Amino acid sequence: MPGCSILGCRAYKRTHLPNLTMHRLPKKDRQKWLDIIGVENINLQFKEPRICSLHFDDKSFNRTLDVIRLRDEALPSSDLIITIM
Ligand SMILES: [Zn+2]
Repeated sequence: MPGCSILGCRAYKRTHLPNLTMHRLPKKDRQKWLDIIGVENINLQFKEPRICSLHFDDKSFNRTLDVIRLRDEALPSSDLIITIM
């Protein structure tokens, strides 16, 4: 399975990030996501780029006991794009 498509993000290589989730670009907001992320910061060679949860702030998620879901209207946080190494 491919890791996070954000260039420089190595989250998928860390073995123990229990809360890490991966999120596909939504069809509807795809362009919005790309504008925030910056096309130079994302690897688009995969058909289905995925962004890991490290690039969203906490309020983007709906947490229930066992399930972490990204809210429908959630957008990646531009502050969190290139800071993860
Ligand atoms: Zn990532």
